[in-house]
Amino acid sequence: MPKPLTDQEKRKQISVRGLAGVENVSDLKTNFNRHLHFTLVKDRNVATKRDYYFALANTVRDHLVGRWIRTQQHYYEKDPKRVYYLSLEFYMGRTLQNTMVNLALENACDEAIYQVRDPRCPRSVAVPHRSYLDRSCFLDSMASLGLAAYGYGIRYEFGIFNQKIVNGWQVEEADDWLRYGNPWEKARPEYMRPVHFYGRVEHTPEGVKWVDTQVVLALPYDTPIPGYRNNVVNTMRLWSAKAPCDFNLKDFNVGGYIQAVLDRNLAENISRVLYPNDNFFEGKELRLKQEYFVVAATLQDIIRRFKSSKFGSTEVVRVDLSTLPEKVAIQLNDTHPAMAIPELMRILVDTEHLTWEKAWDICTRTCAYTNHTVLPEALERWPTDLLQNLLPRHLEIIYEINRRHLERIAKLYPGDDDRLRRMSLVEEGHQKKINMAHLCIVGSHAVNGVARIHSDILKATLFKDFYEVDPDKFQNKTNGITPRRWLVMCNPGLAEVIAERIGDDYIRDLDQLKKLLEFVDDDSLICDIAKIKQENKLKFSAYLEEQYKVKINPNSMFDVQVKRIHEYKRQLLNCLHIITLYNRIKKEPNKDWTPRTIMIGGKAAPGYHTAKLIIRLITAIGEIVNNDPVVGDRLKVIFLENYKVTLAERIIPASDLSEQISTAGTEASGTGNMKFMLNGALTIGTMDGANVEMAEEAGEENLFIFGMRVEDVEAMDKSGYDAMEYYNRIPELKQAMDQIAGGFFSPDQHDLFKDIVNMLLHHDRFKVFADYEAYIKCQDKVSALYRNPKEWTKKVIYNIASCGKFSSDRTISQYAREIWGMEPSLEKIPAPDDPRQ
Ligand SMILES: *Cc1c(COP(=O)(O)O)cnc(C)c1O
Repeated sequence: MPKPLTDQEKRKQISVRGLAGVENVSDLKTNFNRHLHFTLVKDRNVATKRDYYFALANTVRDHLVGRWIRTQQHYYEKDPKRVYYLSLEFYMGRTLQNTMVNLALENACDEAIYQVRDPRCPRSVAVPHRSYLDRSCFLDSMASLGLAAYGYGIRYEFGIFNQKIVNGWQVEEADDWLRYGNPWEKARPEYMRPVHFYGRVEHTPEGVKWVDTQVVLALPYDTPIPGYRNNVVNTMRLWSAKAPCDFNLKDFNVGGYIQAVLDRNLAENISRVLYPNDNFFEGKELRLKQEYFVVAATLQDIIRRFKSSKFGSTEVVRVDLSTLPEKVAIQLNDTHPAMAIPELMRILVDTEHLTWEKAWDICTRTCAYTNHTVLPEALERWPTDLLQNLLPRHLEIIYEINRRHLERIAKLYPGDDDRLRRMSLVEEGHQKKINMAHLCIVGSHAVNGVARIHSDILKATLFKDFYEVDPDKFQNKTNGITPRRWLVMCNPGLAEVIAERIGDDYIRDLDQLKKLLEFVDDDSLICDIAKIKQENKLKFSAYLEEQYKVKINPNSMFDVQVKRIHEYKRQLLNCLHIITLYNRIKKEPNKDWTPRTIMIGGKAAPGYHTAKLIIRLITAIGEIVNNDPVVGDRLKVIFLENYKVTLAERIIPASDLSEQISTAGTEASGTGNMKFMLNGALTIGTMDGANVEMAEEAGEENLFIFGMRVEDVEAMDKSGYDAMEYYNRIPELKQAMDQIAGGFFSPDQHDLFKDIVNMLLHHDRFKVFADYEAYIKCQDKVSALYRNPKEWTKKVIYNIASCGKFSSDRTISQYAREIWGMEPSLEKIPAPDDPRQ
């Protein structure tokens, strides 16, 4: 239960948490009680913690409704250009606190809850809800910048699995997040749309017809996306699959009514579950259905809204789609929604009866594509026989796009057949496939990577041929994170310490953090920043002890690597450092070692054998190290179970050291790196992804940069990487590897890690050993600096002061101006008339 704030604390917290005005509080109390009674149908004697959460969520939600309706009216009146962000990867997250922050209701809610709560009901009401992926940062920024934006995706019944660690292994559990209902979503059955699959194509004198299809209905659920204190509330619309009422009933082949009703599941499976792969393409038909489902439903919505919106000052129905690119931008998040391109062409040509040339011009001027990876195993390549069966008309259209595209290339490079083969959308082979990235490049007016180095690599390697033909198409949009969630929400203490120095405008204009540079030598700031970090560490230690019964030393360095488990992210390099530290302590137990608590967390894709074995290795190392009395609390190894956004929000503010150690050239951008930087952790990292720009902004001397650069990796690819050479030459590396291989960490099964050992020694695509020495040396420097708290904290301040670039507000402003043709604005829109707001 939150303690009531003293007046002084209230004044202190006004800037970042909103004013707890008397009217606000009494109004919130009334509505909270009303919802507990009328919405949840509970009295105080039987209300559970969850009931209190829902009552509060509904109370806060009421404050959104007027703004939400008003914003949508405002868009209708003004008819601005709309941007549609299509992604298969965002789903509902912790909305309550985010809404309170953006509406400046946090203090008022705390007060109201304190005054209203039954003292018998223990603990805080803020029940953690769901995890979500970082695309939601963009939604927050689009609303905060007043853009008429819509997020479109799938309402998965099951999100990313919950990870349990059982006997050191990852075990997956279904994530039944809708079990208790979701107070933030609103179903809109009146806007249901049909989506067609299968069938065949008829070429008739009146045009092309796609017939004999099976229909699945797409039912939209809307979630409000509030901007930061600007009265804007945008919409995220997620589609859920529903079988039509007559599903299978007309079909003579099925066993009648009962079976037909049971078979409705088949259609509704489309939105059942999120594919949990990270950076890996799995060519399953159900996944292709998901991708087309979101695209087909969304495009119908986009075109309906375009046609029925106000046109100038008169209300007319637009019939002419030629102005679509002036009013609509569609951003394809990765190639997952790539079918938007052939689907838009199908609508324009087959349904609207435009010429191909006209339709193609509209399509390419409307669509833009963001690439997220260069890893070959992650690139989508759909077999043509799958497409032929599921979406026969779209395959025809893709072939026609390719025919015209290759015709153009052939004219530019006569006789260069190899180039035609490389640039084709169709990959020949024993199984013919469509290269979805090529489709996206050809069908878009802009293609972007997500960090400068990544965009440069795209131009130099993966998309080189395309860059040569259309250099102006290729752009960079370095990723960012929202300072609302990743500072104000998760680290209010730090947000406040900053606001005391430079005011609170930095929350919507993160570049203002630069003003902190004036204070780098100010002992009071150094002291405050160090104090907040220590408080966060104590809080996280208490959380770990309560949740997992593990005790850690809060005075040790918190050395953290949290992200999906993947070979390219090199959790194994971290493991080798841990083992090296362990061996050194054992060798010289009386030396004054800098104590570390090394925490690693992240989910492995359920089918990724090596990633799961890496988790087992981390837990195995922990079992040996943590139980060795010689080591004591100078080295602890914790695997953080079920890493998700809610855990990120706890661990990142408590971290001293951020591990960003991917092989140079493999991590497109990363956003975890930015979250740590903003929360006062120092980075040990390679020159990869956005780390490069972080070092540029803060000064390379304020990060711990080590290892091969992209050029070094490329040179090594040419000369050949010989892991055995490092193994034989570096004694500490050899010792660590021999321990893993010899069963030192797996006494019950000596060969448990043989697949990892074999991989590292003989076919390591990510060259772990090549960076081992530089990494260990760099970690030694980290340990040395940590012993000087003042110098450490000064570097922290340089880092925080240099974070401005990594606000997703900057990222989205660049998308708006340089790709979407829209102008961001920090202006408030008029508040609704409702006196409550
Ligand atoms: C930010 C975030 C990520 C991305 O982390 P990277 O280090 O950039 O890979 C992954 N998972 C969660 C839960 C996050 O919050």
